[in-house]
Amino acid sequence: MTDAETLAAIYRRADRRAWATGWLEQGAELYIDGGWRPATAPGTGALARHDPATGVVLGLVPEASPGDVDAAVTAARRAANPESAWRRMARRERARVLRSIGQLVRDHADELATLISLENGKLLGESLDGDMPDTADIFDYYAGWTDKLYGETVPVEGGALNYTVPEPIGVCALLVPWNFPLLLATWKIAPALAMGNTMVVKPSPYTPFSLLRFTDLVHQSGLLPAGVLNVVLGDADTGQALTTHPDVDKISFTGSTGVGRAILHGVADTNLAPITLELGGKSPNIVFDDVADLEACIDRSFQLMFSQKGEKCSEPTRFLLQRGIHDAFVEGLVDRAEAVVCGDPFDPASTQGPQCTQAQLDRCLHYIAIGRDDGSRLRAGGERDTAGTNDAGLYLRPTIFDRVEPTSALARDEVFGPVLAVLAFDTERQAVTMANDTDYGLAAGVYSGDLSRARRVADRLDAGQVFVNRYGQYDFASPFGGFKRSGWGKEMGMHSLASYTRTKSIWIAED
Ligand code: NAD
Repeated sequence: MTDAETLAAIYRRADRRAWATGWLEQGAELYIDGGWRPATAPGTGALARHDPATGVVLGLVPEASPGDVDAAVTAARRAANPESAWRRMARRERARVLRSIGQLVRDHADELATLISLENGKLLGESLDGDMPDTADIFDYYAGWTDKLYGETVPVEGGALNYTVPEPIGVCALLVPWNFPLLLATWKIAPALAMGNTMVVKPSPYTPFSLLRFTDLVHQSGLLPAGVLNVVLGDADTGQALTTHPDVDKISFTGSTGVGRAILHGVADTNLAPITLELGGKSPNIVFDDVADLEACIDRSFQLMFSQKGEKCSEPTRFLLQRGIHDAFVEGLVDRAEAVVCGDPFDPASTQGPQCTQAQLDRCLHYIAIGRDDGSRLRAGGERDTAGTNDAGLYLRPTIFDRVEPTSALARDEVFGPVLAVLAFDTERQAVTMANDTDYGLAAGVYSGDLSRARRVADRLDAGQVFVNRYGQYDFASPFGGFKRSGWGKEMGMHSLASYTRTKSIWIAED
């Protein structure tokens, strides 16, 4: 955690919004083949990105044309050539490059966190403590892998020598959403670089600024040869031009299930590139009557559900509570929700920032309207927070519905905001059935003082990550990724490396 004194000093520093806005006024450009350039027509329609806390325009985000995307992929292809400086770089040197990038992030964590809070709306403390440490450290983690993935000699018949070589897969298209704008990009950039790939990254048009600043830092450091890292801006059209480009070898996408599905259709008709999909979720948090420490469980569950304004993919958004603790648990949640202070992400008194986009706020309000109509019981929130200057921003009170029916859209759809659905259960079997009754399978939590039961339930849950007695533990070494409509493949650990390499089998005849 950033200690209180440091945090206070950061908050005190001259007007952070003015500083960041000044930086943004330079104008957003594309980063292609080692240089900055404006987007070219057709497709230079620009999105005016508004500060979600104030409604003021932060900057214009241009839209890359198909020609710009082609230029970025062509540069990445050139840099991926087996004779290129990047491909010929010694592995130890590559490791040093990755570690240096991590250090750059660490050295500039303060300003990168400011940009994240400005573009996304999350609290500055959340950016500093939630996003930044891992954004830097992931480069160290993957630096350590550059020389640890190697092939095998295969015991084939007939006297030939057969061995395998893991190679970089080539040009990677990396597409990310707006909720962790820089962190999720580096989850892809670091392992892709570690394995010697080149890449074109496309951030969300709502939150490109922290990634652009990161790219500028890397650019100024001269650590990467031209063409290894490229960044294009835009939304669906740019993303489509990138993911269907014939010269893309690998796609890694984090975003909604609907867009993931659309990308798959495009890929099937064009490059057939292997694809990693990190998609939506509606993760259950199952709490049994015999939970060891009820208050601690309420604290952590509330924190995970509502921190970062509920705009997180794998955190619990359906609480399944056993009847015996249900009422006390919901009371505890309501007390905590009522204590939340919505406000400016740069105000130390705020405990919840604004939703990231108007569309996201509208989506939350839509699901709140459904909950009000379908017999669910509204226990907290349910409306915008317009107190004082909040009126100009996209603030929503933390919202809790209980008595939600398993068939309600509130219990089934991903809302992606501070809107919680609470359901009650009686038996272990019922809890497992309810937890798995979803299209998604990203994560799940089980709280019980009976470890045998917790293990039994964990084994039966259809989710990529299952957390027993402490929801939300993450480590670079542990695979992250969902089942069912939550995605394909894994990020983190060696699993991610496998997705950024291809295995070649070489046969040498006996004579
Ligand atoms: P989104 O799917 O709308 O957009 C994600 C990215 O895809 C953006 O860069 C967007 O510009 C781009 N895009 C949009 N249409 C495209 C198209 N047709 N072709 C190619 N690219 C296209 O998602 P979002 O609203 O930015 O983010 C919220 C979603 O992300 C939620 O569903 C959330 O669950 C998911 N998410 C998942 C994870 C995970 O690890 N599983 C992590 C974070 C967010």
